[in-house]
Amino acid sequence: MDIRQLLGLPELLEVRSLVCVQPHPDDNEVGAGGTLLTLAQRGCRIVFVTVTDGRWGAEDPTVSAQDLIAVRRGERDAAGQMIGVAVQLELGFEDGGDYEERSVMEALIPILRKEKPELVMTVDPWMPYESHPDHQKTGRAVAAAVLAAGHIQFPEAGAPYGVPQVAFYGSSYPNTWVDVTATWETKMAAIFAHKSQFDNTEWPLLSQYFADQAAVAFRNHAPMPGVVSSGYAEAFKVLSRRQLHFFPSAVYL
Ligand SMILES: [Zn+2]
Repeated sequence: MDIRQLLGLPELLEVRSLVCVQPHPDDNEVGAGGTLLTLAQRGCRIVFVTVTDGRWGAEDPTVSAQDLIAVRRGERDAAGQMIGVAVQLELGFEDGGDYEERSVMEALIPILRKEKPELVMTVDPWMPYESHPDHQKTGRAVAAAVLAAGHIQFPEAGAPYGVPQVAFYGSSYPNTWVDVTATWETKMAAIFAHKSQFDNTEWPLLSQYFADQAAVAFRNHAPMPGVVSSGYAEAFKVLSRRQLHFFPSAVYL
């Protein structure tokens, strides 16, 4: 029994509004850039929320944190324009900082209640070897905010709104694949717009790795295997809000 079908939830590409929450200014493009552009082209309103300021995302010790915050904000906006983001919001937590997951959750609830998205997207914090605290805290805070936003707690943050479903990118347990062959080049260009992160000697190898991963995902999960032999796909774990609480089988769905 597919509870998402039972609830009549739309397929991922059918949603009309989306809040996409990323730990750092470049994660949404890496995880879901092709799908996001496809959604934007279909008329979906896309709101980005960036949790941290990305101030420590450099290996050159002469780069100042304040300069990097400004650079990365500009890169985020440029990449967002390429994939059709309507609104860019930022929560301003310190990159890698000693902030609480609950603080992120509380900051997200008024946004979810105001935007009333049909879908929330974020990074999967339950990837078994995920060791970056910002990714762990962001993914978990988003899931907790989706649960809490539908209840009467936090009345000062607006009237309750139940986000119907959540899509996690970067998941080790994907259950949904999106053909992004048509949007792949723009996705890669949008990733590369984050020049402070990707304009370096690793890029040829890294971009090839992204392409190989997406090609394997496409080959294994193309809508009609055997009909089209090559392309690119992005993978997601899509769950209804109800599957985010006391739902032991969610990992296998
Ligand atoms: Zn990140």
